[in-house]
Amino acid sequence: MTPDLRGGGPVPVSDWDRAVGLISSADEIALACHISPDGDALGSMLALGLALRAAGKRVTASFGERRFRVPRLLRFLPGQELLAEPGDYPAVPELMITFDVPIVDRLGMLAGNALKARELIVVDHHPSNTGFGTLNLVDPAAAATAVLAEELLRRLGLPLDRAIATCLYAGLVTDTGSFRHSSTTSGVHLMAARLVATGLNPEEIARELWDRSPFGYLRVLGVVLDRVTLEPEVGEGLVWTFVTRADRVAYGLPYDEVEGIIDVIRRTDEADTAVILKEDDDGAWQVSTRSKGAVDVSRVATALGGGGHTKAAGFTSHLPVEQTMASLRALL
Ligand code: AMP
Ligand code: MN
Ligand code: MN
Repeated sequence: MTPDLRGGGPVPVSDWDRAVGLISSADEIALACHISPDGDALGSMLALGLALRAAGKRVTASFGERRFRVPRLLRFLPGQELLAEPGDYPAVPELMITFDVPIVDRLGMLAGNALKARELIVVDHHPSNTGFGTLNLVDPAAAATAVLAEELLRRLGLPLDRAIATCLYAGLVTDTGSFRHSSTTSGVHLMAARLVATGLNPEEIARELWDRSPFGYLRVLGVVLDRVTLEPEVGEGLVWTFVTRADRVAYGLPYDEVEGIIDVIRRTDEADTAVILKEDDDGAWQVSTRSKGAVDVSRVATALGGGGHTKAAGFTSHLPVEQTMASLRALL
C-alpha cells in the first residue's frame, strides 16, 4: 500500500495555484477562524498568520465573538499578538482567509466581513462545507485544517519554524485526538514528524491542551458525572449529561474549561452515542455529540441546526435540556 504522504488530495492543483497567486500578490490579509475556536481553528489561523507576517504581509487575525476571549488552554499558542477584536477587523477585506469554518454562520460577527471580502479563501476539512468562498480549499479526507494549512505554506514556499509548527501541531493533535481517531493516517504521522523536527515540545503542548485545569474543574466534573444518564434502549445506546452556567459559576469555571468533559462521557462501553449539553454565558446550550461509528451524529446535529463530522458533531439549542434531549432521542 502506498502511504498517502499529504492530505491535500481532492483540492485541484489549479486551486492551490490560484490561492498562491492571490496570497502572493496581497499586501494585507485578513484571517478568521470559527467561533469558540479549538486547537485546529486557532492553530491553523495563527500558523498562516505567523508565516505571512514573516513574509512581510500585514496580517489581522480574529474570530467573531462579541466577548472576544482566547480559551485558556489555547493561550500558549505562539502568534497571539496577531489577534484583533472583531470590531477592529477590516470591514471589506481585499483578501480574507477562513480556517476550519464549514458554514458562514460559524464566523459569528465576521460573517458580514467574509461576504463583503473581494476574495475569500476557505481552508477547511468538514464534509459539510458549503463552499462559501470565492476559492475553496476543502478536503474532507484531511484529518485537520492544519493539514491543509501546512500544504498551503509549502506551496507558498514559506518555511516552518518552531512557532509555526507548534500552531499546526496543536491543530493536528486536537483533531486526531492525539493520533487516536480513525483519521490518523501515515500521512498524519509524517506531518507530525516534520513538525516535531522543528524542535517543538510535544509534552508541553499536550500538557497545555489536556493535562491541566483549575481545581474547580474537578468539582464541576464531579457534579456533571453525578447526573450522567445511560439509556441503552435509545438508538445504539445513549449516554448523556449536562453542565449549567450555575454549575460553573459556583466554582469560578469559564465555559471553555468544560469543553473536554465529552471525552470522559464517550468512553462508556454500553453506548455508541455520547452527548453533553453545555450552557454558555449567554444562556444558550452548546451540544456536543460523539459516536463510535454506529450512528452518524453529523446527520443528527445537522437536523438540529448544527453540523460536524460522522463521529463528532454539535449544534446550539435555546430550548430546555429535556426538550433538546427529546428531539435528539427521536432522531437516534
Ligand atoms: P465540539 O463538540 O464542539 O467539539 O464540535 C464537534 C464538531 O461539531 C466540530 O467539527 C464542529 O465544527 C461541529 N460543531 C459543533 N458545534 C456546532 C454548531 N453549533 N454548528 C455547526 N457545527 C458545530
Ligand atoms: Mn474546529
Ligand atoms: Mn478541524
